[in-house]
Amino acid sequence: MDQMLKDRVAIVTGAGRGIGRATAKLFSQEGAKVVVCDLDEGPCQETVISINAAGGISMPCVGDLTTEGFPERLIATTVESFGQCIDIIVNNAGHSGPEFIHKAKNTFWQEMFEIHITAPFKIVRAACPFMRDQAKMEITSGKNPKCRKIINVSSLAATDGMIAGVAYSSAKAAVLGFTKSLAKEFGPYNICVNAIVPGFIDTRLLQPLEKRSKAAIGSKSIGFDKKALKQFISLTPLKRMGTVEEAAGVILFLASSLSNFITGQVIKVSGGLW
Ligand code: NAD
Repeated sequence: MDQMLKDRVAIVTGAGRGIGRATAKLFSQEGAKVVVCDLDEGPCQETVISINAAGGISMPCVGDLTTEGFPERLIATTVESFGQCIDIIVNNAGHSGPEFIHKAKNTFWQEMFEIHITAPFKIVRAACPFMRDQAKMEITSGKNPKCRKIINVSSLAATDGMIAGVAYSSAKAAVLGFTKSLAKEFGPYNICVNAIVPGFIDTRLLQPLEKRSKAAIGSKSIGFDKKALKQFISLTPLKRMGTVEEAAGVILFLASSLSNFITGQVIKVSGGLW
């Protein structure tokens, strides 16, 4: 069978670990050239090394997507490396942590919005000359524009809410509005924009809270309450967490031609939870 993303240029943010890494690897196996973006240099390089060692083509772009100018640098790096045409963007980088509203800090609220919605907004805006304008040129020259893809990673917290998650769930809910509006705006250019809503996927975001001092981003430790996680798994019809490969598989579907008539949609990858 032909590779599904042969010669396509893809950007995956947060690809140093978890869902993003599994997506970058799967894209590469399907023939895409992948820009692997992550905050942490070591994990980012590890993803690139493992893709390239398997015969794929990828390059790292290390940096914090919430810093001024970095989303634009990610696009510039992609174009310098792989040419003027960007085919796929996966806005996946993110993190969370528990915070009740009565103790909520402005800094965490801002962090959640900066990484989950402001960064994707800036990335897509900077990519317009290489996605929207490319499509416009194809249309003007009488061709059918290529089907390009944007996939945004939201959360079950956005669609269904989460205790101690007002900032995270509000920012992830903004991702859904962003997705649906972009789908309408980009439809005439054959750019499909969809979101996935992961439920509980086995990554470091769900490591038990007692280990949380080991991993933190910005002002917040990463982790999830062990008891609450157990409860959520018991409520999940499939009675388990998802794997990163299962989440990446749905992202691949949305990035591939199998989904060329799907746009503005939100797909839950939650084992049936909610
Ligand atoms: P993960 O921690 O394994 O991977 C996330 C990656 O994003 C990390 O490598 C991290 O360094 C990177 N990142 C975070 N902030 C960044 C920044 N400012 N700039 C650049 N890179 C940054 O977590 P994951 O579970 O794979 O999460 C991926 C996405 O899925 C996130 O947006 C998360 O909110 C979402 N999500 C995950 C779950 C889950 O159960 N794991 C559920 C719902 C939504």
